[in-house]
Amino acid sequence: MKTNIEAGLRKLQERVASCRRCPRLIRHISTVARLKTRSYRDWEYWGRPLPSFGDPCAQLLIIGLAPAAHGGNRTGRMFTGDASGDWLIRALHETGFANQPQSISLNDGLRLRSAYITAIVRCAPPKNKPTRQEISNCSEYLAEELRLLKDVRVVLTLGRIAFDNYLRPAKIERNHRPTFKHGAIHRLAQDAPLLATSYHPSRQNTQTGRLKWNMWLKVFENIRKELQSLGGPRVDRSERGQADS
Ligand code: SF4
Repeated sequence: MKTNIEAGLRKLQERVASCRRCPRLIRHISTVARLKTRSYRDWEYWGRPLPSFGDPCAQLLIIGLAPAAHGGNRTGRMFTGDASGDWLIRALHETGFANQPQSISLNDGLRLRSAYITAIVRCAPPKNKPTRQEISNCSEYLAEELRLLKDVRVVLTLGRIAFDNYLRPAKIERNHRPTFKHGAIHRLAQDAPLLATSYHPSRQNTQTGRLKWNMWLKVFENIRKELQSLGGPRVDRSERGQADS
C-alpha cells in the first residue's frame, strides 16, 4: 500500500515540476532564479514549480499558500530556507512530526513523521498573491494529493486563502461552512478529515505579534491530541530523531 502511494505521489510530483499552466508565475520564478538576491547570489536556484513532500502514510496534511521566492523557489522544497519554514519545522519537531528542528536545504536530512506538506499554488507568486485563475489551475494537484494520501485524519490550513480553497471543492452548504479562526478544529463530515485552522506563519504575522509562538505551538499540540484520540498516531515525542520517510 505504502509503495503504491509513494509511486502515485512521485508521478504527481514529476508532473508538478514540469507544469507550465500559469505563464505569469513561470516567468516570475524564472526571473527570481536568474536575478537572485544578494544573500544567496552563490545559490543555484530551483526556479521551477515545487513538489509537495513528507510521509506517504501521513495522518496530518498541512496546506500552505505558496512557496517563497527566495525560500522554496531557491532550495527546491516547500517551507525550506525561509522564516515561515523555520516556524513550521520547529513546531513539527517539538510535537514529534519531524526528526529535526531546521529546514535549510534539500539535503539537510529532514524527515517528516506522519505529516505531509503541500500548498494551494506551487509556484512563488509576485507579492505572495496568486490570482484566482492560478489557484484554480493548481487545484487539481491538491485534489490528487487528497485522494492519494489515504491515512490523513487532520488537514491543517495555514491562512485564510488555504482555508477557503480547501473548502471550495468540498461543496459544503454555505450555512454549514465553518468560519476562519486561528486554532479551531472542525468536523466537516463523519468520514472527512478534521479541519484545523491557523494563521499562516508568515513574517508579517510573526513579526507583528499577530501569531505568537505559544499560539502556534498549541495548534500542533491540539492536533497531536486529536490524532491520539482517533486511535493514532504514529507520533511520539520520544521517537524524535528517527527518520522514516
Ligand atoms: S502554480 Fe501550479 S498550475 Fe500554476 S504553473 Fe505552478 S504548478 Fe502549474
